[in-house]
Amino acid sequence: MPEKSLVVDLHCHSTASDGTLAPSDVVRRAAQLGVNVLALTDHDSTAGLDEAHRQAIESGLRLIPGLEVSTTWQGKLLHVVGLGVDPESPGLRQGLARLQAMRDRRASDMGTSLAKAGFSNAESAARKLAGEGMVTRTHYARYLVEAGAAKDMKQVFKRYLVRGKPGYVKVDWVDISEAIDWIRQAGGVAVLAHPLRYKLTANWLNRVLTAFREHGGTGLEVVCGNHSADDNYRAALFASKHGLQASAGSDFHEPGPWIELGRLAPMPDDMQPVWHRWQ
Ligand code: AMP
Ligand code: MN
Ligand code: MN
Ligand code: MN
Repeated sequence: MPEKSLVVDLHCHSTASDGTLAPSDVVRRAAQLGVNVLALTDHDSTAGLDEAHRQAIESGLRLIPGLEVSTTWQGKLLHVVGLGVDPESPGLRQGLARLQAMRDRRASDMGTSLAKAGFSNAESAARKLAGEGMVTRTHYARYLVEAGAAKDMKQVFKRYLVRGKPGYVKVDWVDISEAIDWIRQAGGVAVLAHPLRYKLTANWLNRVLTAFREHGGTGLEVVCGNHSADDNYRAALFASKHGLQASAGSDFHEPGPWIELGRLAPMPDDMQPVWHRWQ
């Protein structure tokens, strides 16, 4: 008999940030889909982890406590996933409080800016959609689509929520080195998320990865739900070149036709998985 295969998913979102499912529903869904090792990684928040953990015990899967930190490095927006963190770590808590204040201020500025563009209800609607979770661009996007400003999420980002558009507000998040420090102080490992989504040249990505490694980063998200097959292969080459362990995550936000919990392309050969430490 072949050994039962291990299904890992180390990147996904709940209502604690811009996912549509409650943390317990994310875990339940993952378990039903055969995931054995799951990391919940909400944007700049660990608020969903307690609920997820309780459900993980009931559903019989291994939950890795995680998060996805918004960082800026030399003007580039980069996402750093922290895996295996203690959410009670004082350094991490203080850091996240800072990021949450930045998010709140940005949400207000986006509201003001979109009101000028004719969407006077955008801020209250986005805040309502976010509930007690982080307010993200995704919440504004969902409202704007609902209000008929664009036909889908892709179009609404392009028209309203990226640099140069009416709902875009520039934020300098924390430096990537700080995010890595918080994660490591909290006992976790830092993984650079979806490396081929930043539209960086190979030169820039090499620079980013050199800095990331120097500052104590451990892993690279090689297999990702929003990467193409070619992106995964290229990410594997970057991971090998920079001595980074390989992670895999769907970046699931909501049920839909494309991205699903645990549904990932195979890891390219000869990678050292970041999840070996939790097996
Ligand atoms: P924020 O961190 O608040 O700036 O929001 C970033 C989030 O917006 C990402 O984590 C994605 O979930 C979402 N997002 C960014 N670009 C797009 C896009 N083109 N289409 C759909 N969602 C996007
Ligand atoms: Mn998101
Ligand atoms: Mn991300
Ligand atoms: Mn994500």
